[in-house]
Amino acid sequence: MTSLTKKVKISGVGIHSGNVVNMVVKPSKKYGIFFHRIDIPNSELIPASFDNVGETLMRNTTIGKTNGAHVQTIEHLMAALFLLGIDSAIIEIDGQETPILDGSASEFIKMLEKYVGTKTKMKKIIVKKTIVAKRNELVKQMHGFKKLKTIIFNHTIWRKGNGFVKLSPNSKGLNIDATLVYKDKIIGTQSYSCFLDGTKKTKYKFIKDIAKSRTFGKYSEWEWLKAHGMGRGANEHNVIALNDAGDGTLNKLYYKNEFVRHKIIDAVGDMFTSGGFIYANLESVKGSHALNNLVLRKLFSDPDNYEII
Ligand SMILES: [Zn+2]
Repeated sequence: MTSLTKKVKISGVGIHSGNVVNMVVKPSKKYGIFFHRIDIPNSELIPASFDNVGETLMRNTTIGKTNGAHVQTIEHLMAALFLLGIDSAIIEIDGQETPILDGSASEFIKMLEKYVGTKTKMKKIIVKKTIVAKRNELVKQMHGFKKLKTIIFNHTIWRKGNGFVKLSPNSKGLNIDATLVYKDKIIGTQSYSCFLDGTKKTKYKFIKDIAKSRTFGKYSEWEWLKAHGMGRGANEHNVIALNDAGDGTLNKLYYKNEFVRHKIIDAVGDMFTSGGFIYANLESVKGSHALNNLVLRKLFSDPDNYEII
């Protein structure tokens, strides 16, 4: 297991509340990533685990009980921890969402990378069979997952029923192919790939090409959300704001396909809720946090689907 050499304090506004959240990422001798809501008396540690993902409401990943101690928007921090090889840490937090910082994984990586403890290889989860999670399966589960229907920034989380996330065997590492399909011209159809195998080479490539890609949303919806108590921490530094026509952005893009690059950060963060390093091809077409979670639930539902080393 790999933890940190010291506590790292990270503060900033939450993207939805707009309130300042203080977080301390602490070294841990216990395997796994756990959140601890220190603002809630006697609250237990919340494992950052796929089977503890309560909802993927508002286009983010939330762990814990919706009505109890939970933490939302964990995915960018999880992606940073994964990339740095940190598989064991306790994250104290005094609010219900992580700081959004620059809307990407980049700031988290910069703040944590100096304090990565002695490294040992992360637990490998080798995918042995092809597992597919389809958008229409999510719709079927809507009674169970009823919170999923909420939308933010983009009025259709259920954008046409043919999106999927697929895992298939890859003995070399985690290879992600992501495709986005949007009506908004500025996004359109975008694809991007990334490969991670735990080596410095693939890590630095991710840091250089993907890590700073920001989350995105429509500016018109942003104002509405703010008026309704959401998206209050969103600003031009942490969200790419699309114009109403969907053919331009109000702030400058780092890359034309920054949108799909950001989706890869989300996928990496979500895959780390597996508790280890997933060795697989991950194909994501019109993917979402809900689909990432469903594919993990399906993977772990049958021990014949995977092998842990
Ligand atoms: Zn994201």
